[in-house]
Amino acid sequence: MYRENWLERLEKRYRWIGFTLLLDLIDGLSLTLSYLFSKTITMQYPDREKWIPYPRFRGHHFLRKFENGDTKCVACELCARICPCQCIKVVPYEDEKGNRRPLIYDVNTARCLFCGLCEDACPVEAIALGQHYEFSAYDSKKLLVGKDVLMKMPGKTEEGGKVVRARLVAGEKVFAEPQGKEGYHWWNRIRRR
Ligand code: SF4
Ligand code: SF4
Repeated sequence: MYRENWLERLEKRYRWIGFTLLLDLIDGLSLTLSYLFSKTITMQYPDREKWIPYPRFRGHHFLRKFENGDTKCVACELCARICPCQCIKVVPYEDEKGNRRPLIYDVNTARCLFCGLCEDACPVEAIALGQHYEFSAYDSKKLLVGKDVLMKMPGKTEEGGKVVRARLVAGEKVFAEPQGKEGYHWWNRIRRR
């Protein structure tokens, strides 16, 4: 059973003092006023700032490459088999050296759950989900991406989890381009009283 402590009992008994002196109102106003002079936590996205997610973030897929530019994918189709929404299509072929490679490697990002199972299943770490998240489109057909696009997609970076300065690029694809690597962690700016 809940029992009031002495302070709660005192507050209850002399509540009229607080009412008379408008203490609650003063308390609320002082909090509002203190926010006027504290650092803002509202991100100026996409015009001036951009959130760079952590490397563990599951954003747009990308295909890893060897130094010679060939894809690491061996077209085993494990990713396509494990995908719960069947949004990966792999068609294999054998190159002149007898290596199995993907002729077609499509990902339908409109259907994707970004669960990361394809990344976990890949035996050669060819497919991965990166930190890129600005790929919305008005036409869902544009969200079906092929091997060439996946090989050009940005990979994972070591840095992340902060807000950096950025500039809005409004062309066919609208995105915020980071300007430098220095940033801040927005949760450090949250006032806790
Ligand atoms: S992240 Fe999940 S849903 Fe998306 S392609 Fe990979 S396995 Fe399929
Ligand atoms: S990305 Fe990995 S799992 Fe998918 S087909 Fe290529 S090698 Fe196999």
